[in-house]
Amino acid sequence: MPGKSSLSGSKKNMVSVVIPCYNEAENIGEIYHKLTKLLNPHPYEILFVDDGSSDPTLDIIKQFARDDQAVRYVSFSRNFGHQNALKAGIDLACGDCVISLDADMQHPPELIPELIRKWEEGYEVVYTVRDDRKNIGFFDRIASRTFYRLLNFFSETKIEPGSADFRLLDRKVVEELKKLGEHDLFLRGMVNWIGFQQYAIPFVPNKRQAGKTKYSLGRRIHLATAGITSFSTRPLKISIFFGFLFAFSAFLYGLYAIYEALFTDNTITGWASLIVSVLFIGGIQLIMIGIVGEYLGKLFLENKRRPNYIIRETNIKNEQTA
Ligand code: UDP
Ligand code: MG
Repeated sequence: MPGKSSLSGSKKNMVSVVIPCYNEAENIGEIYHKLTKLLNPHPYEILFVDDGSSDPTLDIIKQFARDDQAVRYVSFSRNFGHQNALKAGIDLACGDCVISLDADMQHPPELIPELIRKWEEGYEVVYTVRDDRKNIGFFDRIASRTFYRLLNFFSETKIEPGSADFRLLDRKVVEELKKLGEHDLFLRGMVNWIGFQQYAIPFVPNKRQAGKTKYSLGRRIHLATAGITSFSTRPLKISIFFGFLFAFSAFLYGLYAIYEALFTDNTITGWASLIVSVLFIGGIQLIMIGIVGEYLGKLFLENKRRPNYIIRETNIKNEQTA
């Protein structure tokens, strides 16, 4: 971490807060009121990104927007997912810094003044790291730790375990992030990759205020795969390693078999070992083909250059296209 002396001086400017919402009607009232209190000394905007909710989320947001000039919103044509909702917020926010946090109060809004303080000290990225020993289910904790271990094993970009999508980005970083035209987003990795002066703040997540998690197991696996495959091609190289490993073992076994045949009269039994090795090697091959397929599929999707999201409705004027 660089010393403060190398960082630029104070700048008290407009703060944008981006909140992705997918069926969060029960939560947005609380977070909105909390934010207006916390942000008050600063000029600010609160940008709600309605990710194709099917509950009254959008109606509530519009109500806020009618009464409060600082409220902006975009509503997607369908559910595009959390990462794409965050991207839309980053693309459309007009603040000198952009803070993103979840709608369900799991990311404590009370930390925002601290994020802003660090930004004013001159840090361009102030990110948060979740202390997962409290308020996180056993399964989630194990899954998250395994994910970060795998990610850091495979990837050249090292990401701190527990990094959350609760962070502040300076305008400079936002502009760089907007240039990365990736389809499959893993923002934690992208922000880390971009660099700049970064500062980490630990936090204890709250329990989800109301409603259920919108991240199903399938979505978690998708995000984990996107995280790994977006930042490394090392999984592709594993097949070479296994190839050599198996070829070498086969060679040693061949030597042994020749020795057995020439110098002993042991009968060859070994049906079980044969089946086991065939299944094992077959399984490994399928995994390797799957990994190749994963990258190929990614290329296919990236190649289509489709937008990350489609906006159905917004109160932002001169909205840029995604
Ligand atoms: N979210 C979203 N689109 C989705 C899923 C989630 O915008 O398709 C939002 C959700 O409303 C919340 C944030 O992303 O504000 C984090 O989701 P959630 O709390 O369900 O995830 P968890 O905290 O359980 O990982
Ligand atoms: Mg949550």
